[in-house]
Amino acid sequence: MKKVIILGLVAVSMVFASCNSSTKNDGQSANETQKFDLDTMKLLSGQTFYQCEMHHQINSDIMGQCPTCKMDLTKLTKH
Ligand SMILES: [Zn+2]
Repeated sequence: MKKVIILGLVAVSMVFASCNSSTKNDGQSANETQKFDLDTMKLLSGQTFYQCEMHHQINSDIMGQCPTCKMDLTKLTKH
């Protein structure tokens, strides 16, 4: 009788194993493609900005005055 029980347990365990063997793909999707900001590059070129004639390091997106010499910034467009 013991053999029958053991066989039954084995059969049951095999059924469970087959149920659990439905393989789940836990593989991490390695689709981390880095975006190359071409749009940002386009925006930078041809962008209108304001620059001090005396201090070319002074750049501003909006019209204003140079903080160093208080001159009005000149409107320029990057090419
Ligand atoms: Zn200046």
